[in-house]
This record gives sequence, C-alpha cells and structure tokens, in this order.
Amino acid sequence: MEDTPGTKQRTVGLLALAFLLGVVYVAWLAAGAPDGSAATSPEETATTRPSRTPRPTRTPRPTATEEIIPTLTPTPQPAKVGVVAGHWKSDSGAVCPDGLEEVTINLDVASRVVAILQYEGYRAELLPEFSEKLEGYQADAFVSIHADSCSIAEASGFKVARVASSAIPEEEDRLVACLTREYAKATGLSVHKNSITFDMTIYHAFNEIDPETPGAIIELGFLAADRDLLTDKAYEVAQGVARGIACFLEQD
Ligand SMILES: [Zn+2]
Repeated sequence: MEDTPGTKQRTVGLLALAFLLGVVYVAWLAAGAPDGSAATSPEETATTRPSRTPRPTRTPRPTATEEIIPTLTPTPQPAKVGVVAGHWKSDSGAVCPDGLEEVTINLDVASRVVAILQYEGYRAELLPEFSEKLEGYQADAFVSIHADSCSIAEASGFKVARVASSAIPEEEDRLVACLTREYAKATGLSVHKNSITFDMTIYHAFNEIDPETPGAIIELGFLAADRDLLTDKAYEVAQGVARGIACFLEQD
C-alpha cells in the first residue's frame, strides 16, 4: 500500500499521542504512584520499620480430658444359678405303671424354679441332664432336680445331698441345709431318712462342674405316695427349692 499524505498525518498524530501519554505517565509516577517506584512517601517509610513482633499465638489450652469417675462400689452381678431338670433331654427317669415319667415332674418343677429365681433377679438357667455346659460349670449355686421311684408305694419324703468328696464342704453343707429347711417348710414334706443313696453323692454332674461351684441334688419326693404334691402343687414344690437356693445365696 502506498503512503498517502493522510496516512503520514495519522502516524504523526499517533506518535504525538504516545509521547503525551508518556509524559502523563512520568508525571503520575512523580506524584506518587501506588507502587512507589518513583517516590518515597512517609507512609512507605513507616512500612520499613521493623515489623511488630507478632504476638505469639495463644497456646491452645489442652482440652479437658473427659474424666471417667470410677464407681466406688461396682454394682454386683446378680448371682448365677444353674438348675438341672433331671433326665431332661436324656431319658425318662423313673416311670410309674400308668406312664407318669419322672422327667415330666423334674422339668416342670425345674422350669418353675428358674422362673422364680429370674423373677427375683438372679441369673438362673435351666440345664438338661447332660448339658455340654456342665464341664467346668461356674455358678454361685448349682442344683439338680430329681424325683424318686414309683416302685415303693408307701415311701414318702424328700432328700438333699451334696457330692461325697467336696472341695468346699462347709459351703455345700450350707446349701443342703438351706434346701432342706425351705423345702420342708414350703411343701410340708419330711426328709426321707436314711435313704440318701450312694448314687446321689457321686452324681455325675458333681464331677463335671467346677469344684468351687456349690452343688446339691434334691429328690423332690416319691412318684407314688407324693404324687399329688408333685403334680398338683408344683408351684409350692418349686417355691421350696427356689427359697432354699435364695437362702443359701443371701447368706453369702
Ligand atoms: Zn432321677
């Protein structure tokens, strides 16, 4: 493109404008541009003063450790009681000519004993005759519930025994005494004297449970002569056993 006079004039005009802008810029700098490259204002001098020592940040106060106040008297666990329903889940036990089975009486009474003890706040549990739990079983009391044969028509009364070779004879004698007294009181039945069999004192569970667990076995009565009591007054029968166990536990 050829230069025309008009183009030349415009170029000169632009140069003049650029110069003018340059002059204005220099003047603006001299007046104190914000970046301060051309002039030093008093305010800027101030910024060169040693900066104030930064206040130390506040040491964070340690957060209060949540204090766990130990209970002075730990709430004692309710006593644990194991109750075996004799022959349950194993065999019938003694059988009467009319078909009444010992296991039926035992399970009825043992279930009631457990229910009464649980109602009273004990940790009672019902166990079958040969429970897997019996090996080394630990509890505050252990009672196995049985009933006597139907074969001696005139025989009446109950029996309570503990293991012959006891590791804690005083404790177990006390359990036997409590059961005997409370059971007699609740049922009106007498102890069937001189009939604690060798079987009772070497009862299998006594050799399975922990030797420190106080254990006893009770024969509630005879299936023949004491039948009415065992079948019709099962609640009183169970109360007698439960009170006997509670008597033992409360004296501890
Ligand atoms: Zn039995």
